[in-house]
Amino acid sequence: MEIPYSKVDCSGKELEYVKEVLESGWLTTASRAQELERRFRDLIGCKHALAVNSCTSALHLALDACGVTTNDKVLVPSLTFTATAEVVRYLGADPVLMDVDYETGCVTPDILIDALNTDPTIKAVIVVHFAGYPIEMNNAERTGIADICKRRGVRLISDAAHALPARRNGEYVGNAGDATCFSFYANKTMTTGEGGLIATNDAEIAARASLMRLHGIDRDVWDRFTKKGGAWEYDVLAPGFKYNMPDLNAAVGLAQFERLDDMRAARQKCAEYYLSELSSVVDLDLFGRNISAEDHAWHLFPIVVRPGSNVSRNSLIDQLKSLGIGTSVHYKPIHRLSYYRERYGFAEANYPSTERIWKGCVSLPIYSGLLQIELEHVVRSVKKCLA
Ligand SMILES: *Cc1c(COP(=O)(O)O)cnc(C)c1O
Repeated sequence: MEIPYSKVDCSGKELEYVKEVLESGWLTTASRAQELERRFRDLIGCKHALAVNSCTSALHLALDACGVTTNDKVLVPSLTFTATAEVVRYLGADPVLMDVDYETGCVTPDILIDALNTDPTIKAVIVVHFAGYPIEMNNAERTGIADICKRRGVRLISDAAHALPARRNGEYVGNAGDATCFSFYANKTMTTGEGGLIATNDAEIAARASLMRLHGIDRDVWDRFTKKGGAWEYDVLAPGFKYNMPDLNAAVGLAQFERLDDMRAARQKCAEYYLSELSSVVDLDLFGRNISAEDHAWHLFPIVVRPGSNVSRNSLIDQLKSLGIGTSVHYKPIHRLSYYRERYGFAEANYPSTERIWKGCVSLPIYSGLLQIELEHVVRSVKKCLA
């Protein structure tokens, strides 16, 4: 049996919608991208949704719209993909790293408050809804991550590359803080090949991000093409970027979006099977058990091999590979990456939970096309390796 780590599910109307775009003669940003934005607003409940060409672009635009600039400091968890930290550098600002909670892989209110107390000059915070776990942003007691940022006058951006669709306290991830950034990269919970989206309830952030995603031009291309008179005329208000989402990609996204809930439910089934079968394995720690399974996006299923186990993480990966099972690692922490370590001197000792996760983590296959017999093979193999 060969079980890849990840597999794209294009079993819906992807081909049909892409064909329509190809036949329409207009491939770049227009009605399909706008339609994807409209569907997003309807589902998430946010006021503004801006489709772009990646989550990295979305994060860059969101930070810029929050006014982050040269020599500002931005808090970022160390347990994340490099994109979360690199966008801070795009603006000449500096990332300040936070540890995460070992139970969830996410930043907690206590961790955030500590970091803000340690450095009162922090301008903005990026949190990551790790693996699809929805961080509590707001609550009645005003002790959520967004409540804290608001009280402290600090800007807040969510990296929700894993968290579509996910909910907390009845609200979709995408409504809290200043902006939320989603990814439609090929292996994410929905894909457009490459793509991303900014969700926000702030009209000023939406206006700035909308301007900057296409060269800083005061009207978008589709506007210029369709409006009568002066199609050639435009002004540039800022040196913007080239971050728009082509309709060709949005067409794939629309087909994916139609199956967003079905695909999430299929991943939840995988997660529930893994949780029920692997919880009793003494050498493993698992994530994502303290919220309702319906609220989790289940983008990743990381397991952590405990320190002192007979089998190392690397050897588990090798053994699973020899049994035909693909895995991945999320993540080699930012504080261990050469550029960041050399520039900022980040020390491993400051991120104990991140270190423990990094040293033991293996992400198991989890996707809508994964069959029950394949899940059983994965579980059996993991148990055998750790026995
Ligand atoms: C995938 C990912 C990104 C980057 O997404 P792109 O769409 O590839 O730019 C950013 N942050 C996290 C946590 C990710 O997993």
